Amino acid sequence: MVGVIIPAAGSSQRMGKNKLLLPFGGKTVIERSVAPFLEMDEIGEILIVVSKSETKIPALFHHPKVRVLTQGGETRQETVYRGLQALSEECDTVLIHDGARPFIEQEEIVAVIWDAKETGAAVLGVKAKDTVKTLCDGWIQKTLDRNEIFLAQTPQGFDRKLLEEAFLKTKGRVFTDEAGMVEAFGKKVKAVFGKSSNLKLTTPEDLALAKGLLEEPKMKIGHGYDVHRLTEGRKLILGGVEIPFSLGLLGHSDADVLTHAVIDAIFGALALGDIGAFFPDTDETYRGICSLTLLEETAGIMEKEGYVLGNLDVTVAAQAPKLRPYIEAMRENLARILKTDQKNISVKATTEEGLGVSGGKKGISATAVCLLFLKESQ
Ligand code: MG
Repeated sequence: MVGVIIPAAGSSQRMGKNKLLLPFGGKTVIERSVAPFLEMDEIGEILIVVSKSETKIPALFHHPKVRVLTQGGETRQETVYRGLQALSEECDTVLIHDGARPFIEQEEIVAVIWDAKETGAAVLGVKAKDTVKTLCDGWIQKTLDRNEIFLAQTPQGFDRKLLEEAFLKTKGRVFTDEAGMVEAFGKKVKAVFGKSSNLKLTTPEDLALAKGLLEEPKMKIGHGYDVHRLTEGRKLILGGVEIPFSLGLLGHSDADVLTHAVIDAIFGALALGDIGAFFPDTDETYRGICSLTLLEETAGIMEKEGYVLGNLDVTVAAQAPKLRPYIEAMRENLARILKTDQKNISVKATTEEGLGVSGGKKGISATAVCLLFLKESQ
């Protein structure tokens, strides 16, 4: 089994604040750095090692494979060592990955695992593209042969026993990466060629560059449509507002057709399916439930996906009753739950001139269009 150690106890001195918690593509830097490892079958455990005082990082991870260890050391080396001691016994191969490398891809991880298992030690990196020179007191000392230069990244993968032994035998010496330690221990390390896009975010300049490389769309548009049948003996609820009328809408929940169209528009924008996928009408939990509660859950899912509502435009088609007096209250409800200003919420009512679904007073329909913004791009 492969175990992953993510050293995340650094003080981010060069960034000025904890870079791992900076918003990045709708999540945090550390969440994105860990995400590709989560769904890989080869990986059985992911250990994130943070400092004792860190409370925010542990709150971000609720995945069965992830454990957060609050025993980070003074140096990266010490933090990795403590992680290695805490890793489950079943892990015979260990990967170390920087918490601030959010562009790592599963293909590269697999390549490192493969070579680490075969050779005992493997490090991901790229060949130098620039000419590399050594410096002394602001003067160039000499020019190195670029073809011999390999820029090490992470993950770095090792046979666990080998890494443990390297730690013990090189005790007291300082290394900037684990491959360096294993080399000093006398073991050959295999170079795995990756991509230069696997950036480590160290300075504010790196962060600005990295944001440009993100592939998440800054905006997403969604559309929702719903119809419910009018019947006797039910309440008429639209946008969370109870409207006095002789008929009400039939449905498993409170049948708030307007709110259902809004929920579908949000799920549509996120391409997550429809309302039925999240709140099935076969589930007794949702019998008679207030649809605003479902909208609140939907808003939570939207937030988790990294998006916030830009604006929303809803049209309800009903022959009767007159909805105008209730529109403001509906806008207020939707704005409150979607955590936005009321000016971003439009609710319009129309009739279908005696035609269509609503014209014969058999039912009420609603359509909704929404625009979502990626959190930090607003
Ligand atoms: Mg519905």
